Amino acid sequence: MPTSIIDSLAAWLKPGTVRRIGEVNIWKTTSGYRVCHTADLVRFGPDSGADALPTHTLPIDARQLAKLDAERKFRPLKSAPNLSGDWLLELPSIEAVREALDYFYPAGIALWLRWANGKIAPMHLRQTLNRQTGMYRVTGLIRDEEATALVQEACAPENCRRKILWEISEDLPVPLVREKRLEASPAPGVELPENVPLLCCEACNILVAAARAVVKKRMADEAAAS
Ligand code: SF4
Repeated sequence: MPTSIIDSLAAWLKPGTVRRIGEVNIWKTTSGYRVCHTADLVRFGPDSGADALPTHTLPIDARQLAKLDAERKFRPLKSAPNLSGDWLLELPSIEAVREALDYFYPAGIALWLRWANGKIAPMHLRQTLNRQTGMYRVTGLIRDEEATALVQEACAPENCRRKILWEISEDLPVPLVREKRLEASPAPGVELPENVPLLCCEACNILVAAARAVVKKRMADEAAAS
């Protein structure tokens, strides 16, 4: 069984396979590795057709590619399903692949490996909100029904590709569409699957900020009505 992220990636990217995480596909070539957008892989295939795409050769180029959507707008959430395509990354080594994937999906591979090996426990939304300080402390006052509606909206598949592992609280599951849950928990020690799911182990900063807006709006409405 692979013992490091690099070993796991090398085993995952064995010759003759095309792998995927989020909206990018990766495969081995005779001289290194190629990465491209899934839509471009469907258009061109993994062979010479992809040569027509503008080519980048440094892992750090992935940071710029992940930064803007097709309309050149900033992507604050890297797991939003709006990664733009029309590029090809030609990388020389598995280390370079790891670095590039971390720009597209920060810690995406590492998180899945830690989860699959039982080394990470999800944090329920109430736990995340109750530990906030400063201007976000107020998020702890969000009501269950507000939190449920917020998660269903903000985390919907059209806004974020991550699979949610947490609930509102231990006693209150959040009803989510099928795409937002893992179909099955992996058995410990398994290798990376062909299509690595992006996981959400605790609410991100964007959701916490949205929870603050919900609570502040309710407070303002209540103040105006009193
Ligand atoms: S909380 Fe998780 S699922 Fe929801 S938007 Fe943030 S990263 Fe995506």
